Amino acid sequence: MAILHDHYFTAGLSSDPELASAIAGELRRQQDGIELIASENIVSRLVLEAQGSILTNKTVEGLPFARYYGGAQFADAIEALAVERAKKLFNCRFANVQPHSGSNANAGVFLGLLKLGDAILSMNVAAGGHISHGHPATLTGRDYRIISYGVSRESERIDLDEVRDLARRERPRMIIAGGSAYARAIDFASMRTIADDVGAYLVVDMAHFAGLVATGLYPDPLPHAHVVTTTTYKSLRGARGGMVLWNDEGLSGRINAGIFPGVQGSVLLHGVAGKAACLGEAMRPEFTAYNRAVIDNARALARALADAGLRIVAGGTDMGLMLVDLAARGLTGDVAAKALERAGLAVNKNVIPFDPRPPEAPSGLRLSSNAGTTRGFGAAEFEAIARWIDRVLKSPDDDALIDGVRKDVAALCAQHPIY
Ligand SMILES: *Cc1c(COP(=O)(O)O)cnc(C)c1O
Repeated sequence: MAILHDHYFTAGLSSDPELASAIAGELRRQQDGIELIASENIVSRLVLEAQGSILTNKTVEGLPFARYYGGAQFADAIEALAVERAKKLFNCRFANVQPHSGSNANAGVFLGLLKLGDAILSMNVAAGGHISHGHPATLTGRDYRIISYGVSRESERIDLDEVRDLARRERPRMIIAGGSAYARAIDFASMRTIADDVGAYLVVDMAHFAGLVATGLYPDPLPHAHVVTTTTYKSLRGARGGMVLWNDEGLSGRINAGIFPGVQGSVLLHGVAGKAACLGEAMRPEFTAYNRAVIDNARALARALADAGLRIVAGGTDMGLMLVDLAARGLTGDVAAKALERAGLAVNKNVIPFDPRPPEAPSGLRLSSNAGTTRGFGAAEFEAIARWIDRVLKSPDDDALIDGVRKDVAALCAQHPIY
């Protein structure tokens, strides 16, 4: 019996028709529908090739030029390139590009800088925080004492007085800023003042605005935070994975050890190559133009939705994402998201601050301009998207209407093809 099946080194996806057909279906879904989910974007062919490369065969542990296994010269070059680009792009002294995900980047930083049972002050999920910042269902929620701040009821923005009061009362070892459904600019300098006041680390998780920070279009956390974490596949528009950035050399040993061996084993080198690729792209002038368009488009979408009578949480957005309150429409986010999906508009249901409803059937939707902007949509296209959303939400059970919107969506997508 042969030890390898025919064409082992040469046959591609088509040799596994079941898998190939599911991937082809997903490609068509991405091509023919409009992606408004904030945690997604559309990568370049370059990033796809780097991440889908033979690097998956190589195992390395440890940092570049200090590996446990041999044969790492090219692995070292690839990871060092990603690190150099990350440092240059974000103008900081140190970077670790190994985290397999944003959650791992956070968990590694916690493990490196905190002791079991230390207190973390982070934004609660109901106000837009991320579960990896200490939600009870996660390891971080079990290992640390989590205190959370929210937003002001009136402005729906971070209430710095509340953060300061909680910090003084609870004496956290770490304060986290940045979330997954908070659309407004954050005052990192004030957050640092509060952290210094109680002797806490300030960690900023910039997953949803890293691209804007890289291009100077959002407040830069790096001059203020002890540590910055991010995903690389949302606003940075690259490989799936995470990253940690910092300036204080005194933290390097603990952060690096927190990632490996703290929460991870060997490096996903293909992912690191994808990060190097997207960080290189992010240094090009086109990435600044893209990020300007992300904000302009998000504001055009938010304005058009507001004109249609939908309430935008916190009155608007300073980035690609926004939260929409559906309560006045008598609709819940789950019903709305399903109807919109049938119309080819991918969105996610989301709780809004002080949501009286449960997460499974919350009052809101989260939308983003990130992926549509990558396709080349401008303000006019996002205004059309707002009209379609409004129509579907007015008649979520009208199949004929939803079919009609689906055709309009497909026509717009055909004018802006991907891959
Ligand atoms: C998406 C996100 C993460 C987690 O990313 P994963 O790669 O899914 O683990 C962490 N923090 C914030 C703020 C995020 O938005």
